[in-house]
Amino acid sequence: MSFPEVVLASRNKKKSEEIRALLAPHGVVVRSVAEFEEMGDVVEDGTTFAENAAKKASETATTLKRWAIGEDSGLRVDALKGAPGVYSARYSGPNATDDANNAKLIEDLQGVPTEKRGAEYVCHVAVSDPDGNIRLRIEATCRGRIGTEPRGTNGFGYDPYFIIPEYHATFGELSPLVKQVLSHRARAFRRLIPQLVKVLTEAATT
Ligand code: IMP
Repeated sequence: MSFPEVVLASRNKKKSEEIRALLAPHGVVVRSVAEFEEMGDVVEDGTTFAENAAKKASETATTLKRWAIGEDSGLRVDALKGAPGVYSARYSGPNATDDANNAKLIEDLQGVPTEKRGAEYVCHVAVSDPDGNIRLRIEATCRGRIGTEPRGTNGFGYDPYFIIPEYHATFGELSPLVKQVLSHRARAFRRLIPQLVKVLTEAATT
């Protein structure tokens, strides 16, 4: 028996690769929204990761009449009262790049000492059935610290500055295999997968 395919409501290639790699060993086949011309961009106007993830999942599901996963993630920095938060992707402005976002982050943290540079990545995942009903939701975090210099070229986004204190290394330096165990996304999907397999199995047999 095979499960229904699931569409991942994200155009972020690096993020999508990570999610695909987390789901593949469990037999869940992930399609990208980029494969479907009829699917426009979902406007991420929620004020929480949960709202944005649910909106991405249900709009994609109802447009394509397929199961969909919405994932919204970002960085919360203690000394910035939780910023950039849901605005992580466009922290430096509407045409933001990872480099510009990182430059703004480091400037905003100028003069903040090491012990006050704590931060966490957050990942919220919502799964919608083809009728737009949110069937599963999970949120997970990964604590770290923001460095002062970029280190390493693995990962994406804020990874060259995000230090995992136990490893004395950034996600930019750690191997992708380590990130696939420790990250906010890995933790969220580890908890989601048994439930996802269950709802997809039920959908395949009814
Ligand atoms: P989203 O695609 O709207 O969920 O935005 C996610 C943004 O959060 C990315 O563009 C990055 O800036 C940041 N982000 C989320 N997860 C990660 C990660 O694993 N590494 C680095 N940055 C991340």
